[in-house]
Amino acid sequence: MVEKKQEIYEDSLLYRLRHSTAHVMAQAVVEMFPEGKYTIGPPIEDGFYYDFDLPRSLIPEDLIEIEKRMRKIIAGNYIFHREVLSAQEARKIFQNQDYKLELIDGLEYGGFDEYGNPLTEKPEITIYRHDNFMDLCRGPHVENTSQINPDAMKLISIAGAYWRGDENRSMLQRIYGTIWETAEELEQYMWRMEEAKKRDHRRLGKDLELFSTTPEVGGGLVLWHPKGALIRHLAEEYCKDEHLANGYDFVYSPHIGKSELWKTSGHLTWYQENMYAPIDIEGEEYFLKPMNCPFHIMIYKNQIHSYRDLPMRLAEWGTVYRFERSGVLHGLMRVRGFTQDDAHLFCLPDQMPDEIDRVLNFCLHILKKFGMQDFHAYLSTRDLEKSTGDAQMWEDATIALQAALNRAGLTYDVDEGGAAFYGPKIDLKMIDALGREWQLSTIQFDFNLPERFDLTYIAEDGRQARPYMIHRALLGSMERFMGVLIEYYGGAFPVWLAPVQAMVIPIADRHLEYGHAVVEQLKSQGFRVELDERSERMNAKIRDAQLQKIPYMLVVGDREMEQEQVALRLRSGENPGVMHLSDFIDLARAEIIQGK
Ligand SMILES: [Zn+2]
Ligand SMILES: [Zn+2]
Repeated sequence: MVEKKQEIYEDSLLYRLRHSTAHVMAQAVVEMFPEGKYTIGPPIEDGFYYDFDLPRSLIPEDLIEIEKRMRKIIAGNYIFHREVLSAQEARKIFQNQDYKLELIDGLEYGGFDEYGNPLTEKPEITIYRHDNFMDLCRGPHVENTSQINPDAMKLISIAGAYWRGDENRSMLQRIYGTIWETAEELEQYMWRMEEAKKRDHRRLGKDLELFSTTPEVGGGLVLWHPKGALIRHLAEEYCKDEHLANGYDFVYSPHIGKSELWKTSGHLTWYQENMYAPIDIEGEEYFLKPMNCPFHIMIYKNQIHSYRDLPMRLAEWGTVYRFERSGVLHGLMRVRGFTQDDAHLFCLPDQMPDEIDRVLNFCLHILKKFGMQDFHAYLSTRDLEKSTGDAQMWEDATIALQAALNRAGLTYDVDEGGAAFYGPKIDLKMIDALGREWQLSTIQFDFNLPERFDLTYIAEDGRQARPYMIHRALLGSMERFMGVLIEYYGGAFPVWLAPVQAMVIPIADRHLEYGHAVVEQLKSQGFRVELDERSERMNAKIRDAQLQKIPYMLVVGDREMEQEQVALRLRSGENPGVMHLSDFIDLARAEIIQGK
């Protein structure tokens, strides 16, 4: 699917605009630094970049100057010309451009394209020229610089990047920019970027004291602070109760297992690069678990099962450890230790379609509780050359997945041949208010592990048969899901998840005692509530509570004290006003039930 999207993007006007604007930017930079070297500059999602080797470090003010020069170039109405050249001719044109010479070598000897990506066949060498600027390039471009709308263009940032991503090569300076068809589209894009920054879970995680990571503990290892841990606990508690109500059995399994186990499961063959080095215990090798499956399989295997025992659904909030390079670690999204809301389903062949329906609907039911409404699914199907297992089972499983997607009314893309070697799967992604897709649930068939572990059940006719096995995680990893939740709500969690649901704010010291009474009463009713006892001004207290994204602020003064009332304010800035304490309790209860 990713490929399909890229093809469409490459054919689009936006792609050509971005590519052409990258050339114009490179021209402007070379004008400013005639001795500078330009390397590569592709269009990317939402924009483009270009990497330069320049005599000095760029500063933000340079971007203003570069943009100014770009506007002038655009106004020149230059045509983009394409020319086919021999390698020799190209070398002559780019004789002072070392990086281009290296790229020409790559093109000529058939190894790499002009972006340094590996090539299977020898390409034509083409350049694009506009005004006096030439770039080694296969296009496509717009016809004329006049098609670039200068009001829809913006240079965004400066960053460092190694030549060809290789830390042993030169460090280059990268300029990111964006271009859209209209100024309005640019404005919307800038809003989305701004909003994404505000919602960044790493920043909110710190501001709201939810979690941290520290070099002393190690990268990608998350410490949950009380408020973050409480949100996670509430989310898990809800999900666990729903699992119990939906026919799952909970199990627990250890964090390490003997190498034998991982040999049988095949992880040491096909997954070892994601696993950590073994631990020696009395001369035997143990591994930290990268997955929970082998343990659940051993629980299944501990008994002989009859067809009457199935389906069996074994669930565990299982913590796994996977190797991630330090360079790709990212907040809660890419970590080295995380807890999956994992389950393994074992079922009879004729139970399989129902089981898939059931698990997909269960996913949607759970995710909707978290306010998520907008989903997009991906169905990954068999790659005949790289897969194991019975053709009929693949076929039946794929049909079941597709039918379940249709019945659930989900829009989905098919990733032909994109499945893992052991079975087809569904990935469910959530689309947020900024149009971003977040990977959440996975429902994954496995035709490999039941064979490797020789899983069986006694069928109705008394013979031994192989069950279907399905891995599924709904929220995915709790770490990641919490990161998604923080970004989804921008830290303003719904009342049922908010670590502090209400802040009682006395106007003056003489209202403290009544404030305490309000807190006690709300606590006794099961609310999570705090009292702001500081002798700050009321407005400062309200602002602080708003910054902490606390849903309800209950201001108490003389009048409230006399009448057992509270003056309710919301974090949104709305001001519902004075009400009796019992009316507030009813209101808050109703909002919790509605999932607000
Ligand atoms: Zn180009
Ligand atoms: Zn599994």
